[in-house]
Amino acid sequence: MGKIHREKRIVADMIRFYCDKKHPQKKDLCKHCSNLLDYAHKRLENCPYGEKKTSCRRCLTHCYNPDMRMAIKRVMGYGAPRMFFYKPAEWIKHLFS
Ligand SMILES: [Zn+2]
Repeated sequence: MGKIHREKRIVADMIRFYCDKKHPQKKDLCKHCSNLLDYAHKRLENCPYGEKKTSCRRCLTHCYNPDMRMAIKRVMGYGAPRMFFYKPAEWIKHLFS
């Protein structure tokens, strides 16, 4: 499985997790979160580094617009410490890849 593919899955997990906890009235992702997911996936697809990209953290600072960067930071800040407990193996792979 490629890096981009894996990162797409992680970002989707994180956003779903966040929306689930923060906007629980919705059955699926709310409009805002699904926009963010779309955006994040597009950024990954268009990442200039492609499969050679380093961590998405570094990537975020360069290619997200300010609004989306704020939004994804909130999602990651909320999800990352919790994800560690839910999917530790997946997460460790991500951090050290
Ligand atoms: Zn949401």
